[in-house]
Amino acid sequence: MILTLKTGVSKKDADKIIAKIKDLGFQPSISKGAERIVIGVIGEKAIVHKQTFEVMDGVEVVTPISKPYKLVSREFKKESTVVNVGKNVKVGGKQVIIVAGPCSVDTWDNLLLNAREMKKAGAHMLRGGAFKPRSSPYAFQGLGEKALEMLAEARKITGLPVVSEVMDVRQVEIMCKYVDVLQIGARNAQNFDLLKEVGLAKKPVVLKRGMANTIEEWLMCAEYILAKGNPDVILCERGIRTFETATRNTLDISAVPVIKHFTHLPIFVDPSHGVGVREYIPPMARAAVAAGADGVMLETHPKPAEALSDGHQALLPTHFSHLIKEVKLIAGAVGRHL
Ligand code: PEP
Ligand code: MN
Repeated sequence: MILTLKTGVSKKDADKIIAKIKDLGFQPSISKGAERIVIGVIGEKAIVHKQTFEVMDGVEVVTPISKPYKLVSREFKKESTVVNVGKNVKVGGKQVIIVAGPCSVDTWDNLLLNAREMKKAGAHMLRGGAFKPRSSPYAFQGLGEKALEMLAEARKITGLPVVSEVMDVRQVEIMCKYVDVLQIGARNAQNFDLLKEVGLAKKPVVLKRGMANTIEEWLMCAEYILAKGNPDVILCERGIRTFETATRNTLDISAVPVIKHFTHLPIFVDPSHGVGVREYIPPMARAAVAAGADGVMLETHPKPAEALSDGHQALLPTHFSHLIKEVKLIAGAVGRHL
């Protein structure tokens, strides 16, 4: 539930309210607006104590949060969250953010060429897998720390902030040394221990939607991260499993307006994994921006035949720069810019 405090509430009354929340075994989540202080009372069955707070000095109104997720809900925070990435990138504002790069980092030359081409075409962030979640244990598993070093070097040269997937709680520390954003992949979306660990990290997190997760389940995953104190979560729709086999997954574009309705967190769309077929990716990237996505994540490669994973769905620099020009027009049509 949410406690909206009276305008001009005294520090003494506010402190008493916070102490009461803690005494009852709940966690206070305090946001100080221009006019009012709003405190979320986080914990199971907090609502049982509604009356206790209603009669306390300084409390204006007590509002229950109807959803099982609390901190991520629009009921809790009306203004959209803007996540700062690196020095200059803001996710969730007017600008539509383009993330591009290889599925997995392979050679330095390919990575640098990729990053340079994508930056020239208009990308704002560089992606690249170092630890790869592969369906087969015999498939390429990623270059690990060597890939992270290359990503950090590519950032130094191009200025593009870097996002890469963390697969395990034991990798969080080392990832934080190199990357600007931690990515939780679809296969780990409900790895609750990993979610708690990145919740303690001081880095923004891109949280992919689990392959078979409902939007509510996905938002509960985000709640894990916020509940541990990390408010900087960017959701990423990447397709869900359905009966359809013509595409790798079924990209749920409708998730974009639904997410915008239920949460204040920003949302990316990843059409590369969403459809998994090179020629279907540009139309879905355009659709994502038209639907109101805050960014698009695309797999790109200058030499897809040399890619060590997902080469078949990588966009070439020429496809990419053409797509960015289209996306720019669409962003303008929906009150955004690139
Ligand atoms: C990726 O982005 O590299 C990836 C593996 O995506 P997903 O977790 O969505 O399958
Ligand atoms: Mn991939």
